[in-house]
Amino acid sequence: PAHDPADGVRAYELDRQYVFHSWSAQGALKPFVAASAQGSYVYTYDGETYLDFSSQLVNTNIGHSHPKVVAAIQQQAAQLATVAPSHAALVRGEAAKRIVEKAGPGFSQVFFTNGGADAIENAIRMARLTTHKHKVLSTYRSYHGNTGAAIAATGDWRRMPNEYAYGHVHFFGPFTYRSEFFSETPEQECARALRHLERTIVAEGPGTIAAILLESVPGTAGIFAPPPGYLEGVRALADKYGIVWIADEVMAGFGRTGDWFAWQNPTINPNRATPDLIAFAKGVNSGYVPVGGVVISPTIAEAFADKVFPGGLTYSGHPLAAASIVASIDAMTDEGIVENARMIGEQHLGPGLRALAEKHEMIGDVRGLGVFWALDLVTDRATREPVSVDVVNRLKAELMARKVLPFAAENRIHVVPPCIVTPDQVADALQAYDGAFSAVAQK
Ligand code: PLP
Repeated sequence: PAHDPADGVRAYELDRQYVFHSWSAQGALKPFVAASAQGSYVYTYDGETYLDFSSQLVNTNIGHSHPKVVAAIQQQAAQLATVAPSHAALVRGEAAKRIVEKAGPGFSQVFFTNGGADAIENAIRMARLTTHKHKVLSTYRSYHGNTGAAIAATGDWRRMPNEYAYGHVHFFGPFTYRSEFFSETPEQECARALRHLERTIVAEGPGTIAAILLESVPGTAGIFAPPPGYLEGVRALADKYGIVWIADEVMAGFGRTGDWFAWQNPTINPNRATPDLIAFAKGVNSGYVPVGGVVISPTIAEAFADKVFPGGLTYSGHPLAAASIVASIDAMTDEGIVENARMIGEQHLGPGLRALAEKHEMIGDVRGLGVFWALDLVTDRATREPVSVDVVNRLKAELMARKVLPFAAENRIHVVPPCIVTPDQVADALQAYDGAFSAVAQK
């Protein structure tokens, strides 16, 4: 596409003067400027083309500018651009129905939010209000979002049922490559992590614990799927102690692992242990309009049949978000996009990244599935000592120079293209990773 380079200069200058960025010291930022995007590619005002192997913040599962999703948003904007959450809207019902159907047996309704963090907030709220307990167990090495103070700061009756910014307890989940339990095999890691979780529950007091909150596959923390049997063990502990299991599928859901939801993956969860609540966002509509939500089991939904649910948002079930969800889920279903993600992982990305690790000493571990992979970078394969931030920054620069948009976290490169990525695009990216690793190793 033709863009005016002067607009790129202006975009950069306006950003640096007026835009306050997330998670950053503002002074030294040099943001990448995107002009437009299509499928797996992002275009700049200077006429450069980048292969997007970040999926932005791991959210453009359907790729950029999918024509059916764009058209659905345009059509909905013309018909009914906004509507109060208390009214019924056809498009919202259609979106909720599709999400419940993809979640499968065990789920009956959807509560919509504006993004992932408030999906987690509301899932926790539901768990507390139905168990009449307050503590939330979640893992070290997790990310669940960036809210929590807004309702506590609120000055009316809505605050009182929600004064709950307390009672968070952390434990270690399974992670065989960097085990906290001295495990050498996934089987050991599974058994020991489950024992540690049960000891934590007992030590904290089962009568105080409302929820176990888990990313089905931890994402930003390093993309490490739990060993088979772990989620089943969590389900059993939740049942034994009357605890709600909340699956955080914000990053892992809607195709990323080659499944609609990561907890449904037969290699991760062979006996299909089912959570009570699923938090989603990102891939549900690939972020074309901000949205998230909670998929709710019938038992929890029914608990609010006669009792008020004390939560809500002006834009809950926003029609533009709902229209983009309907179009996105339909296109992903019709075009086999989730199946493509699985095929790419099994046949192209997995084998390609493992071949890369044979060549580059720095790659200590390759792990993942679907289009959800991490390269764990080390200074020494025996000690697994993580490489420095400096090394990762140099790799990022080398990848940008090779026209690949990278995703980096701590000592890792996350290889997270959209679910529509093709074998040829994977081959192009692998060549860029190969070149970048060689360039950094030489210096
Ligand atoms: N949960 C997980 C697993 C995430 O990866 C994220 C965001 O990266 C969130 C929750 C928070 O979502 P949001 O940034 O939409 O609030």
